[in-house]
Amino acid sequence: MSDLDSIIIPPELMPSDGRFGSGPALVRRAGVDRLAAVAGTYLGTSHRREGVRRVVRSIRTGLADLYELPNSYDIVLGVGGATMFWEVAAHSLIAHKSQHVSIGEFSEKFTAVVATMPHLDDPAVIAAPPGSATIPVADDTVDTYALIHNETSTGVLAPLVRPNDGDAVLLVDGTSAAGAVRVDSGVFDVYYFSPQKAFGSEGGLWIALCSPAAVDRIERMASERSIPPMASLQIALENSRQDQTYNTPSLTTLFLLSDQIDWLTAQGGLAWAEQRARSSSGIVYGWAEASSYATPFVTDAAIRSPTVTTVDLDESVAAEDVVSVLAANGIVDVLGYRKLGHNQLRIATFPNVDPADIERLTSAIDYVVSRR
Ligand SMILES: *Cc1c(COP(=O)(O)O)cnc(C)c1O
Repeated sequence: MSDLDSIIIPPELMPSDGRFGSGPALVRRAGVDRLAAVAGTYLGTSHRREGVRRVVRSIRTGLADLYELPNSYDIVLGVGGATMFWEVAAHSLIAHKSQHVSIGEFSEKFTAVVATMPHLDDPAVIAAPPGSATIPVADDTVDTYALIHNETSTGVLAPLVRPNDGDAVLLVDGTSAAGAVRVDSGVFDVYYFSPQKAFGSEGGLWIALCSPAAVDRIERMASERSIPPMASLQIALENSRQDQTYNTPSLTTLFLLSDQIDWLTAQGGLAWAEQRARSSSGIVYGWAEASSYATPFVTDAAIRSPTVTTVDLDESVAAEDVVSVLAANGIVDVLGYRKLGHNQLRIATFPNVDPADIERLTSAIDYVVSRR
């Protein structure tokens, strides 16, 4: 094998931005510049005062517009990201028993959190192998269904289906789809996400779009059991309605999220974002299908993610080698999800990524493979 360190990707094959990670993901320079411009009066000021509350308000109204939510929906924010939200849901949404669609690492993690909760029954699991998807099954012994929109560990966009039920609430982890894929508000009671993926902000925050049925459940749980304050959606709801969070949030995360929502809205909203992600991901899948050494990991084209693409490489081409040459050239974070254990590249095609850069990336990968 030739010396990998000596491979230099020609400038005409280099993307204008080398960040293709699935989260934290490419943050728009314009947002960072706007943050720098207001830093002296914004960063380091109280989140209980108007300067920060105005940003939270613009996130809440901006998301309501972007998702075309009915007025009766609430937009709730809290500190800790989607991982914290699993604990929040286990305390503030699941009454006794939940059913989880489990199709990869992130959906499994929520199930595992619920399984540790002494006040809940063991969760029911509807599982499908990595790279595939499945749907929930109507079950009158469960009061909560947990779905995932985009399984970030495998690159699957799962169908969102509400089983025919009574008063069960349906929760959707939207983390790596939110900000890039449209979703009908009628299908969920809670659509929650962290903003450092398709929304191109920073981490540490969770956002939950909540239907009136979800708010009813939140109020019922708050009156029926004692809940640690950080896991209380009732407290988060009261604070969010005041454009605040219960404890101190990252003001950078809030600002960049608000800026991203404004930008997406000006471009044409989620329809535009999804079309852009689909053109980028289409380039990756088309390239892999035509390639002699790469193939899309997800065999069913209908569930291939528009935002997180996964591509298996022939065993003669070590993904780790390709990734290390790319990184030495400034193209980062394209190794597959480690626990999946495939010889795989994972390339995020979020709206912040320019499709022309995805085109250059695939050429750069071909170049590296041919020189190695
Ligand atoms: C990244 C991710 C999470 C975890 O988000 P954190 O902000 O790290 O807590 C949860 N679910 C999905 C689908 C993810 O992609």
